[in-house]
Amino acid sequence: MTEVKDAGITPVPLEAGNISALKEWRLRVLKSDCPECYGLCCVALHFSASEGFPLDKAPGKPCPYLMANFKCEVHHSLAVRGYKGCIGFDCLGAGQRVSRVTFPLQSWRTAPKIAKPMFEAFVVMRHLYELLWYLSEALERCDGKRLRRALHEELQEVDRLTCLDAEALKKIDMNALRGKSNALLIEVGEQVRGVYGNGKAAPQAVRQRLGRYADLAGAKLSDMNLKGANLRGAILIASDLRHSDLSGAELIGADLRDSNLSGANLSGALYLTQAQVNSAKGDRETRLPEILDRPVHWV
Ligand code: SF4
Repeated sequence: MTEVKDAGITPVPLEAGNISALKEWRLRVLKSDCPECYGLCCVALHFSASEGFPLDKAPGKPCPYLMANFKCEVHHSLAVRGYKGCIGFDCLGAGQRVSRVTFPLQSWRTAPKIAKPMFEAFVVMRHLYELLWYLSEALERCDGKRLRRALHEELQEVDRLTCLDAEALKKIDMNALRGKSNALLIEVGEQVRGVYGNGKAAPQAVRQRLGRYADLAGAKLSDMNLKGANLRGAILIASDLRHSDLSGAELIGADLRDSNLSGANLSGALYLTQAQVNSAKGDRETRLPEILDRPVHWV
């Protein structure tokens, strides 16, 4: 496999215990930088009505609103036009990695020959960046030398994979990689949730409904103590979480679309992403983890 030269994107900090360096790395590397990436997410990915778009679009076809300068023509009116899927998407920095490192200084528009491999590389890179996001948070929050070492090794391995060229990226066995990372993420999830009480302070009727892949669509969960709750992959679409405390709650893969997070405390929630937050409703009182930005559409 060929590794391409890193064009200035800093590798994972070398010492597993250097948490402040890791935090700084996460803030710098795992943030999307749209002007740097040739609108890759607006072209490479497919749209479908079930994913918050008003129309279906095949992967590789540019969105009709993507302008020549790679900016979005309807950026300020995405919600009213039915493009909620765009509001709820975040590449976590994978886009600029492809445009600056995998295909440095080339765009799919000026070099059509690279369009297909560039889009394919972006899809793989997005998966790798998702793993970088979760693994780095797990490393930041885990306890114990063995686990910290294992997470650090895994994080460095995934980081190394992001340096591969487009052909080699395609050959990555993503299922195997995810399976390995997932085992570590679950272990850290159990550790963190345990510290926060495993959701045991929630009212009994709610406690019985909590858990992995819980169907809590439209559920009334306002003003509740949900500390340490297991909400892995939970369906929380349009749920009411106003003023609830989700400290230490595990939210990996949870569907928070249109959930109401006004006044909720998510500052210590585990595995929460910008995309999940963007797809939800909130306000100035909603408390978020330091690394996440308050969505501009929140009042
Ligand atoms: S609507 Fe705007 S943000 Fe969404 S895909 Fe099209 S150009 Fe990109």
